[in-house]
Amino acid sequence: MESVIIGIDLGGTNLRIGAVTSDNEMIAPFVLKSSIVADAEKPVEKICEIIADYSEKNRIRKIEAISIGVPSSVENDKETVICTTNIRNRAGEVVFSHMNVAKDIKERFHVPVFINNDVNNILLYDIMANGLEEQKVVVGIYIGTGVGASVVIDGKPLEGKDGAELDLGHIPYFGGTISCSCGKVGCCECYASGWRLQEIRKEFYPETQIQDMFTLHKEEKPLKEFIQACANVYAIMATIFNPNTMVVGGGVMEMADFPREEFEAAVNQNTGTDVMSYGFDYLYSKGDVGKGVIGAAIFARKRLKDKRSDT
Ligand SMILES: [Zn+2]
Repeated sequence: MESVIIGIDLGGTNLRIGAVTSDNEMIAPFVLKSSIVADAEKPVEKICEIIADYSEKNRIRKIEAISIGVPSSVENDKETVICTTNIRNRAGEVVFSHMNVAKDIKERFHVPVFINNDVNNILLYDIMANGLEEQKVVVGIYIGTGVGASVVIDGKPLEGKDGAELDLGHIPYFGGTISCSCGKVGCCECYASGWRLQEIRKEFYPETQIQDMFTLHKEEKPLKEFIQACANVYAIMATIFNPNTMVVGGGVMEMADFPREEFEAAVNQNTGTDVMSYGFDYLYSKGDVGKGVIGAAIFARKRLKDKRSDT
């Protein structure tokens, strides 16, 4: 077997692992509950165990690198997780906070290890899958339980000073009064997120299943307001970045009967007029479960290539 990159997508609920070949094929995908890691006494050791078991079972001999996507910002060393608000142990404590997760994994397997924000990996996958590599600016906004965003400029993911950039779920909505899980009040995530959609369901449509919300109620006021709130987030980012393509994804945006036309009209209407005089393309991310794993491998390959060209 050729050498592969082990990709892991450590989400709030599921941990997905797969071996990714040099042409971005994922072989032997496998899913476990993230709580197995979260509730372990030593979570990083548990990740090592999972990788070792997986490699053994699938007879993987040549590992080029290990690359893990996490639902958190990651420092620019691409090893240190800043804070996994959505991954907590039984006691309710966050599992990784300002912690170097790569170090022990590197020591155990003797290969390069990369940790990256999961949305960042998914945008790299969407760029690859749709042939957007040559575009100057691609913005991806993924609305699931929370809001995640990534920006790729000239093929490189945008990085802030510390790696804490694009914390889009927590930009303030002016006049917002809802308390956010981050401890502040009136964050955008309180108005445009899967969490909010659940709240709307509980308040107005307790008989409706969450997956039928758009199918049954998209013409009604609570959902119309919700779509406007989501559109606002995209319009802010379009106005700031003047992108070639706006990638629209995440569990909420990928739901059945999400009203794309109405959403795009609202984004266009709220985006700054200078940007709108040039316009941009919309691309809808597909609900493919492998994209976080393959995206992690794409990220690792990019870093390995950068390293080689540095020396
Ligand atoms: Zn917040």
